[in-house]
Amino acid sequence: MSADTAMAAKYRNNFLKEIEEQVEMGDWVKMCMQCGVCSGSCPTNFQSAWEHPPQELFMMIRAGKREEVLTTTSMWNCTSCYNCIVRCPRKLPITHIMHGIAEYAHRLGKAPKMQPTRFFSGLFWKNATKTGRVNELKLSMGLYFKDGFGAGIKEGMKMKDVALGLMKAKRLNPFELLGGHKCKDQKGIQAMLKKAYEIERARKAAKMAG
Ligand code: SF4
Ligand code: SF4
Repeated sequence: MSADTAMAAKYRNNFLKEIEEQVEMGDWVKMCMQCGVCSGSCPTNFQSAWEHPPQELFMMIRAGKREEVLTTTSMWNCTSCYNCIVRCPRKLPITHIMHGIAEYAHRLGKAPKMQPTRFFSGLFWKNATKTGRVNELKLSMGLYFKDGFGAGIKEGMKMKDVALGLMKAKRLNPFELLGGHKCKDQKGIQAMLKKAYEIERARKAAKMAG
């Protein structure tokens, strides 16, 4: 049984409880009084760019719209600017709830696969944890080529003047593609990450079993 099916069965008809128990800071959702200040203040929601802005997501959670909330791209649009938190009259930690719902949707395998923020987060994490240092050139290349070889070349050509300028200013070294900077104690980094994964896995398993 998938994690999604198991959770849907466990919290049958009580999506609010599921969010309260499984999502970081999810227990704050019930405090929302639907004033709309968060959605109106969100700089990434200009021209109603979000499918469901924060206020609406909170209402949908309470209304049990499980599928719609977990599969939307909305919470992935949050850039952690904290505008909403500062303004919310009920002091909801909206930013953290947005990231919490996104992480939960990802954990259940319901997050939209090619949503750019989600894609970039995965790419950045793999890049940074490999050697303990971010290889910016490989990171950019990974992003350019995400839609295939042809699209990558096209994107690279568009950026060639910027790349040449960076090379002239010694801010970009093409040889970084062959390896690049690494942390001295890479074994230490990997051991630290392994331990952190273990702790996180145990915490999430306990939550799921809860
Ligand atoms: S600002 Fe706060 S209380 Fe108002 S809708 Fe947003 S989360 Fe709810
Ligand atoms: S923290 Fe996220 S949800 Fe809140 S205003 Fe900024 S972008 Fe919008």
